[in-house]
Order: sequence, then C-alpha cells, then structure tokens
Amino acid sequence: MFKGILIEKDEAGYRASVQGIDDARLPEGDVTVRVDYSSLNYKDGLAITGKGPVVRKFPMVPGIDIAGTVEASANPDYKAGDRVVLNGWGVGETHWGGLAQKARLRGEWLVPLPAAFSARQAVAIGTAGYTAMLCVMALERHGVKPGDGEIVVTGAAGGVGSVAIAVLAKLGYTVVAVSGRPEEGDYLKQLGAAEIIDRSAFSAPGKPLGKERWAGAVDVVGSHTLANICATTRYRGVVTACGLAGGMDFPSSVAPFILRGVTLIGVDSVMCPRPERLVAWERLGRDLDVAKLDVITREVALAEAIPTAAQLMDGKVRGRVVVDVNR
Ligand code: NDP
Repeated sequence: MFKGILIEKDEAGYRASVQGIDDARLPEGDVTVRVDYSSLNYKDGLAITGKGPVVRKFPMVPGIDIAGTVEASANPDYKAGDRVVLNGWGVGETHWGGLAQKARLRGEWLVPLPAAFSARQAVAIGTAGYTAMLCVMALERHGVKPGDGEIVVTGAAGGVGSVAIAVLAKLGYTVVAVSGRPEEGDYLKQLGAAEIIDRSAFSAPGKPLGKERWAGAVDVVGSHTLANICATTRYRGVVTACGLAGGMDFPSSVAPFILRGVTLIGVDSVMCPRPERLVAWERLGRDLDVAKLDVITREVALAEAIPTAAQLMDGKVRGRVVVDVNR
C-alpha cells in the first residue's frame, strides 16, 4: 500500500482525497518510482478542483511533475536507485501521476535528475519552470538578445512567470512583469523585474496595433492579454505563448504579423521531444539562480495539496508549490 491523492468521478460527483492505494492498482509501465516530491502546476489545480477537463480517465492520481528514485525497472536505461525526473507526457491526465508515494511510468518519459539540482529543487522548477525555459530558448532561437529591448512576462507572480523573470534577468534581459497582484511588487523586483505593470492594462479588448514596446514576450494568460501584447510588440519582435490563465481565446488581428513582422511562437512542454527537454534542464542548471528558486518556492504536505490547488485556481498562490508526498 502507498498513500496518494485519488481523483474520482461517479454518481457521487467529482472529488479528490488522500487514500491508501494498493500497489496492484498501479498502471502499466516498465519503471516503478518511489516519489520524493511532486508539485502543483496550473494543470494540477484544474485536475484536483475539476475546474477544467484535464483528467481523461478515472480514478486518476494527479501530479504532472515527479522527482524520485527508481525502485524497480525492466527498462535497460534505468536501474534501481537511479534518481529521475518526469514532466508531462500526459502523466496526471491519462496516466497516474506524482501526487502519491509511488508511480509506475514508461522509461522513455524519464530524464536523469540534473546534476545541478536536488530532487526538491527539480520539482520546484517543475513543468512551470521548464516551460519558462522553453519560452526563453524560443526567444533566443528567433534572435532576441539581451540589449534588444524590454521583454514582457505576464502572469508574473505565478509559477511560469516567476521562473521566466528569474532566468531572463540573470541572462541580462530587461524584464517588465505584468501582474494582478500589486502586493507582490517587492517579490517580482527581487526576482529581477525592472518594472511592474498592472494586468488591467492588458486585459480589456484593444486596438489591432498599439505603440511599439516589446522586443519579446512570455505570455501565460492568452485571450485579450496575448492580443494586446502582440499589438504592442516592436517591429520583428517575438512573442511566446504557453498559457491560458486568462482565457483560451485569442481575439487578435493579423496586423502585428503582416505589418510589423511579429513572430508568435506556441510553446508546449507536454510532448516536447526528449533532446530539447535535456537542453532545457541543462540550461536551467546554468541560467537559474538557486537562491532565487528558494524565494519562489514553498512546500506543502500531500493532504495540503488539495486545498492549495483551490487557492492556485483563485490566483492566490505565489511562485511554485512543492509537495512532499511522504509527509
Ligand atoms: P499559476 O497559477 O502559477 O500562474 C498563473 C498566473 O496567471 C497567476 O499567478 C496570475 O498571475 C495570472 N492569472 C491568473 N488568472 C488570470 C486572469 N484571469 N487574467 C490574467 N492573469 C491571470 O500557473 P502556472 O504558472 O503553472 O501556469 C500558467 C499558465 O501556463 C497556465 O495557463 C498553464 O496551463 C500554462 N502552462 C502551459 C504549459 C505548456 O506546456 N504550454 C506548461 C505549464 C503551464 P498574477 O497574479 O501575477 O497576475
């Protein structure tokens, strides 16, 4: 038996609770992992609260991030005792995830725990942080360099936003944070934001084009915010879009793309090919200051993850939440 969060949906309704789970119920997979830590991402918030159709099979153990130790492996790439990390691949959505003391996974989903990080630091970064790095890498790939101008980061006090600010600032970019939480101004400045703008400046319907400002952008909000950012991005600037915290729609026009040559890049972490993941983790080892990671992170016990998921959906959680599944 092991302890885990189980999401059930039946005639009694949609609910998440901590339960004792029999090992025999673990799903198919060639590697069994003793989980040390998981985390709470926006997607885990949707899964645990049922606020979004993230979970595709019931019952489901949520948790899209895992850091742990291999207990048993039929995969030639892994042996008992190996320290591993997992992000995405549908884990916590279609395959039982990390908010439990044990997980059975497919070896090809795993990456070795990066040498630069402890298991706890790896989940503190988690999917949110690794996605932030994918956004930074996409900006670089499209030629955006420190010194080119301001980079705007939306949803700044959330998980993706916090790590994006810390990484961009360390790389020498000038970062402008967009947040709905003025009380987090000191936190955002501590991470490296040069300026903070209230999110209301971006959330209403805007014009097809506005005054040019951004050399690049990391957007986690979508909807009017993403449209307004595209409309105010400088000639040949680059916008990365990875989230929908403000809505899934994109009420924009083609004007920024055909008149200013703006590039809009979609960023997906879930199915991102393994070689790019390895590069992202290697880059995080170099370009994320672990002292800032400590500022970004707080820890909760397994049972606390359920109420904390509801707070995350209400926009009340700052930075990243690590879950100690053995506590
Ligand atoms: P968090 O909940 O940690 O952060 C989201 C932040 O967005 C909030 O902290 C808040 O920032 C802002 N926000 C919330 N609601 C609204 C709103 N209605 N309008 C404007 N801003 C809002 O989530 P994560 O950082 O984990 O994820 C952010 C987004 O990125 C999510 O949509 C998630 O699904 C997506 N994502 C996508 C991935 C991919 O592979 N494409 C991977 C990881 C995440 P503030 O209070 O500062 O305004």
